[in-house]
Amino acid sequence: MILTRLRCAKVLQLTLAVIKPDAVAQPLLLEALHRKILENNFIIVRRKDLIWKRSDSERFYAEHKGRFFYQRLVEFMSSGPMRAYILAKEDAVSHWRELMGPTKVYRARYTSPKTIRAQYGLTDTRNTTHGSDSSESAEREIAFFFPEFSVQHWLEM
Ligand code: ADP
Repeated sequence: MILTRLRCAKVLQLTLAVIKPDAVAQPLLLEALHRKILENNFIIVRRKDLIWKRSDSERFYAEHKGRFFYQRLVEFMSSGPMRAYILAKEDAVSHWRELMGPTKVYRARYTSPKTIRAQYGLTDTRNTTHGSDSSESAEREIAFFFPEFSVQHWLEM
C-alpha cells in the first residue's frame, strides 16, 4: 500500500516517529522535540505515550537479532516511557530522517551537527529518536505502534 493522500494539492505521506526513553526521561527535551515536529510543519495524525515490554522490543528489532548491540538495544527500548507519533507531510519519511540525523551519535556530531541525534543523543544506542526508513516500513511500524489506526480509512477521509 502506498501511504499517501492528496490534501490541498499536496501529497501527504505518513511516517512513524518515536521519541525514545532517553529523551522522554528529559521533560524539556521531550517538549523541544514536540516543538520541532510542529515547527517543521508535520501534521500530528496520532500520538501515544507507551512503555514496551521486553518482548515488544525484541519483536520490533528482530532484524537486528545477533548484532553486538541487540541486547543493549532491546533492554534500552523497554527501560521506560516512549512517545510515538504518526506524522504526515510531503515526503514525511525522509524529512523526519533528515531531522534525526545518522544513527550513530558521534558520526552525527561530525557530519550533521544540527540534527537531533547530534545535539541530544547520548550513545549510538541511546540516540533519542526513531523514524521509519521507507513508506513500507512506515506502514508496518504504524501497525505495530497503533494497531487500532486504519491507514486505509485515513487515506480515504
Ligand atoms: P536507525 O534507527 O537509524 O534506523 P538502525 O535501524 O540501523 O538505525 O538501528 C536501530 C537502532 O539500533 C538504532 O537507532 C540504535 O538505537 C541501535 N543501533 C544501531 N546501530 C548501533 C551500533 N552500531 N551500536 C549501538 N547501537 C546501535
